Amino acid sequence: MVKKFFGVFLALALGGVSQLGAQEYPNKVITMVVPFAAGGPTDTVARLIAAPMTKTLKQQVIVENVGGAGGTIAATRVAKASPDGYTILIHHIGMATAPALYRKLPYNPMTDFEHIGLINEVPMTLVAKKDFPAKDLKELIAYVKANKTKVNYANAGLGAASHLCGMLFMTAIGTDVTTVPYGGTAPAMNDLLGGQVDFMCDQTTNTTSQIKAGKIKVYGVTTKKRVSSLPNVPTMDEAGLKGFEVSIWHALYAPKGTPKPVIDKLTKALQDALKDSNVKQRFGELGTEPVAQDRATPEAHRALLKAETDRWGPIIKKAGVYAD
Ligand code: ASP
Repeated sequence: MVKKFFGVFLALALGGVSQLGAQEYPNKVITMVVPFAAGGPTDTVARLIAAPMTKTLKQQVIVENVGGAGGTIAATRVAKASPDGYTILIHHIGMATAPALYRKLPYNPMTDFEHIGLINEVPMTLVAKKDFPAKDLKELIAYVKANKTKVNYANAGLGAASHLCGMLFMTAIGTDVTTVPYGGTAPAMNDLLGGQVDFMCDQTTNTTSQIKAGKIKVYGVTTKKRVSSLPNVPTMDEAGLKGFEVSIWHALYAPKGTPKPVIDKLTKALQDALKDSNVKQRFGELGTEPVAQDRATPEAHRALLKAETDRWGPIIKKAGVYAD
């Protein structure tokens, strides 16, 4: 009886503290965990929105890169972090594909997180090292089919967008190549620039400046329409792979159980960040744009995560790609 009373007392006391904590939130630095290496596409989006979020929250939002296992190491870390709003996660379409790719995923993207809101949708580009022999997509396909595993494809691990795009490409042309995994596509891009790997598929947030500088070759964008910042690059569909389409969305997550008033503040900070003129300008230069304000919400985020999980699961299962 005494024990039970003490338990109830403790629960009330803790509940009270967490409500109070939520009111005072934030009163210290907030860490935004990026599931890939610094300098890559996800990192670029994170750093662009962290600055204006810092302004709204009046507390520093810092970025921490936790790469590895296609983004699942970072997501595991945040799923298990204290649900107090001081550790949040930025992630992309990988949250919708990991459940089909990993047989023993340590978290459930729908139920182990609070969903803060969507950020943007980013096209991908199929690119190759500068002196790669193929000059367009048709030649690339012919070259890959002829050389198969002698050709190297860089990606950021099973669960990364670069992996998904490569898997779709290999499935579409019915040929497997050798894949080289990295902790993010920033180091993969370095090796592509250095000629150590042959080709990859990566977000425009990482490839635009290298394409424009002529340092890499580009074969197509993965969206239905061309990208205004790269007007001369054909869509994959136009270039010869009919119906090839994949678009990468980013969103913010907090550990399950983070109090609603804290999530509300984070959603508001995200919405403010997406109205920021520097964010809008840089996104535009990098081939993306902020989602509309009514999509930077927990509801829209959950709905897209569910729809994308349902969409990609069967495609991945059919491709037979998974990790134990
Ligand atoms: N977003 C990239 C990918 O999924 C990785 C990265 O951001 O470095 O391939």
